[in-house]
Amino acid sequence: MADYKNILVAVDYTEEARKVLQKAKGIAADCSARVTLLHVVETVPVVGGPESFSYVDLYVDQPDVIERALADMKALASNLGIEIHKYLVLTGVPKHEITSSAEEYGIDLIILGSHGRHGIKLILGSTAAGVLHHAKCDVLAVRV
Ligand code: AMP
Repeated sequence: MADYKNILVAVDYTEEARKVLQKAKGIAADCSARVTLLHVVETVPVVGGPESFSYVDLYVDQPDVIERALADMKALASNLGIEIHKYLVLTGVPKHEITSSAEEYGIDLIILGSHGRHGIKLILGSTAAGVLHHAKCDVLAVRV
């Protein structure tokens, strides 16, 4: 096993998040790595006119969504008994936020699920595929 020191685990709100984090726990223990846990509150692209293209927050009516996401991640980690170095809740497009956070925080391994909300019935979901294509570090897609 490669000697990873700084692991980023990306979790959504699917049942599979537990499986992804469980796998990360084992790898982090084997490597004595620190774990950063990330959830992205999704924005969706909208076309506002012929020249404009922007993103809107899916959860614009739920200002507490960041706090709730953080609380959910803490509960999940505590449930699985995994020590988390840093919690990140960002807004944006998951595949972009995951890859840019990995660069920003010097991550050497990204762990995510093979599919989640965007990949039901697919071998690889769109977030997983996007991260695999664009990440500059190793990526582990946990088969869920
Ligand atoms: P998908 O490709 O969107 O079906 O999801 C594949 C995996 O990407 C999921 O199992 C998660 O590990 C990760 N992921 C998807 N959406 C998010 C999100 N909003 N925040 C963090 N990780 C995500």
